[in-house]
Amino acid sequence: MSVRKPLARSVVRNGFDGSQHTVGMPTNTGYDPSLGRKFIFVTGGVMSGLGKGITAASTGRLLANAGFDVTAVKIDPYLNVDAGTMNPFQHGEVYVLKDGGEVDLDLGNYERFLDIDMTSDHNVTTGKVYDHVIEKERAGDYLGKTVQIIPHITDDIKRRVREAAADSDVCIIEVGGTVGDIEGMPYLEALRQFAHEEDDDDILFAHVTLVPYSKNGEQKTKPTQHSVKELRSIGLQPDVLVGRCPDPLDAHTREKIALFCDVPQDAVFSNPDVDDIYHVPLMLEEEGLDSYVLGHLGLTDEALTQNERDTEWRERVTRATEDSIRVALVGKYGLEDAYISIHEALKHAGLERNVAVHHEWIHSETLADGEDGELSDVDGILVPGGFGSRGTEGKIEAIRYARENDVPFLGLCLGFQMAVVEFARNVLGLDDAHSAELNEETGHPVIDLLPEQKDLDDMGGTMRLGTHITEITEGTLAADLYGDTACKERHRHRYEVNLDYLDDLEANGLVFSGTSGRRMEILELPEHPFFFGTQFHPEFRSRPTRASPPFLGFVDAVCATGGEH
Ligand code: GLN
Repeated sequence: MSVRKPLARSVVRNGFDGSQHTVGMPTNTGYDPSLGRKFIFVTGGVMSGLGKGITAASTGRLLANAGFDVTAVKIDPYLNVDAGTMNPFQHGEVYVLKDGGEVDLDLGNYERFLDIDMTSDHNVTTGKVYDHVIEKERAGDYLGKTVQIIPHITDDIKRRVREAAADSDVCIIEVGGTVGDIEGMPYLEALRQFAHEEDDDDILFAHVTLVPYSKNGEQKTKPTQHSVKELRSIGLQPDVLVGRCPDPLDAHTREKIALFCDVPQDAVFSNPDVDDIYHVPLMLEEEGLDSYVLGHLGLTDEALTQNERDTEWRERVTRATEDSIRVALVGKYGLEDAYISIHEALKHAGLERNVAVHHEWIHSETLADGEDGELSDVDGILVPGGFGSRGTEGKIEAIRYARENDVPFLGLCLGFQMAVVEFARNVLGLDDAHSAELNEETGHPVIDLLPEQKDLDDMGGTMRLGTHITEITEGTLAADLYGDTACKERHRHRYEVNLDYLDDLEANGLVFSGTSGRRMEILELPEHPFFFGTQFHPEFRSRPTRASPPFLGFVDAVCATGGEH
């Protein structure tokens, strides 16, 4: 393939109303997706948890800064069809896409770093692949053939990658897990075939690996050598090696890796620890990773020169903060990864307002009745989403404290539902009010099962999921925050406000300022400095350069009232 397509120079931003607008550079026209599409495969060596996803997403950010349309695919070699049924405590947050896909949290990183909206097709799992192949087998589509991992499973993997990449210039494909894992084998074999089928300059293999220190402070290359040996034994030669180490790799370490792993010295990159993941693209740019990748893919002529590159990311993530605030996250999982999108959304709002947002974990089970202890030290209270009854009384207690003491409060999904329960109990006087999810016996199920959820057998993929439009009442805080009469946000819930209690709740001052048909989507208390809850999850649409309106409102309110509590 010799003809290069004109590559996109446009930066498309997604508006909160779902519209898209193009900024900066002229829109690419006459794009033929069958020409010159580039694939960057990212594998991991030695051990998991190296930050392979952040490295991959950061590389994508740099290529986007150079003017290319970049997308990503995350391969998860587990048998679950999707992440929807996984426990966030073990696996981290379940990220929700606009089409309702319940996916690995790495897709959240890709959406945030690349400022794109992905779909379920961008998360390939072994469960999905086998499901599809077995379905085809049952339908007789294989015409009597023996159905096998090679070629049927590998063909389906390649098809999915190509389809997900179709509308972009460059697609970054991250293979989850570590090279050598049994589960990952069919994917690596599919990659090998890919390399066989595509032109050399349309594919780049990057391997992210661990470079540990020995006891005497020496950077050790042996684990990297072994993991590259493993890759090569299955027919894959990495083009680029990225060494994860607390510090930059020494010249000697680079030389050694280059020699033993058979890559040029300038294809070995350092990826040292940084305090802020949003600085990883900046650091990789300084290392020259983007120039090397563009050169390898034959895109150097097409890329914008250094001073033409989009610098919005750099400007945003390196802003100096003038102030700092402390907010409490009241939840049941102490694990940071279980609420990663909420942390990021708070950070985005802070970046927009030049404020450092520090969050403190308050384990909801520790908030005993009437004891506000830890809450009195914070400037704002956020109650996130969740499932199951553990810790809910503590969440209700935290909401009562916020409501009665004029502390800014943001409630998301379960946090929204618990705000309704708290209001019903303490303002309406319905002492045993609860969500039917958490107490089936309650005499006042102010939060109840969505009607269509009543007779479900399957738990996977059956919640109210993905983007739905919320109509916003004019003159409310919600209208002010969104600057609009509607918003499009992502959902993931089975329960909702029980309309039997609506009149009572409203008559006592609770305002439902956002609705979707007869579904209550946003609540607020007009007399309170900031008491705001959403049945949806605004955190999934927040981006470093485009903070989410409810989070911005929350941070503004915390700044305005901070220190008074
Ligand atoms: N458990 C609640 C429901 O299913 C809230 C879900 C959530 O917070 N994502 O409706």
